[in-house]
Amino acid sequence: MNLLEIEHVSKTYTDKARSFTVLKDISFAAKEGEFICIIGPSGSGKSTLLRMITGLDRPTDGCIYFKNRKVDGVTDKMAMVFQSFALFPWLNVLDNVTIGLEAKGIARKERIALAEKYIDKVGLDGFEEAFPRELSGGMKQRVGIARALTMEPELLCMDEPFSALDAFTAQNLREEVLDLWQDENMPVKTVLMVTHGIEEAVFMADRIIVLSKRPAEVAADVKIDLPRPRNMKDRAFSEVADRIYSLIF
Ligand code: ADP
Ligand code: MG
Repeated sequence: MNLLEIEHVSKTYTDKARSFTVLKDISFAAKEGEFICIIGPSGSGKSTLLRMITGLDRPTDGCIYFKNRKVDGVTDKMAMVFQSFALFPWLNVLDNVTIGLEAKGIARKERIALAEKYIDKVGLDGFEEAFPRELSGGMKQRVGIARALTMEPELLCMDEPFSALDAFTAQNLREEVLDLWQDENMPVKTVLMVTHGIEEAVFMADRIIVLSKRPAEVAADVKIDLPRPRNMKDRAFSEVADRIYSLIF
């Protein structure tokens, strides 16, 4: 079943002086259970596309359907993880993680139980009282991931979630996110992740959607059949990465 359908979506920004098209006639669908990466050059409209999918922005043309219903504003069935972590500096880890649940109207006791479960899942057990300034980048992003998972969304959207992290931390988190996605006890089954890293996309995705330069169109939609867990040093891995590279440059 298709969880998400993007149909002929275009986005044009207009101000007094000019208008410019960021995304042009984008169409693709995401099946339940898929891990999809969207890659494209910087400024090609990847963040804009994710914002439209999650209902934070609207297409100029075309339609986005989530579970066969037109996306029309934000819904708690989709959650987002941001490159910049987007934590509230004045809230501790527990309060940062429960904030979405509060908006959802869930009672305090239940909020805390849910948050504890996912804080534990991302390896932050014991850091509930810590403030963002006391955490490393990797730990901050764990909070961002726990906050999104706590919403128990049907679609997890991630916008370059590892780009602000050092290489070692990023790779650890990639592997952990894949473990969580493959964990049968986790409610999140479908992931849509934006990245500009070809290796990262090949490491994680079932399918890679390649966007062209602005105005971005879908340049390719490639199924990645490599067995998991994947190894970036394998020859088969490099061959797939080279193929994706040639689609972009
Ligand atoms: P990416 O995430 O692929 O780097 P973005 O979606 O952030 O690309 O942005 C694509 C282009 O759209 C950029 O040139 C950016 O400056 C422009 N843009 C993004 N948001 C707005 C906005 N709200 N108003 C005007 N232009 C915008
Ligand atoms: Mg972006």
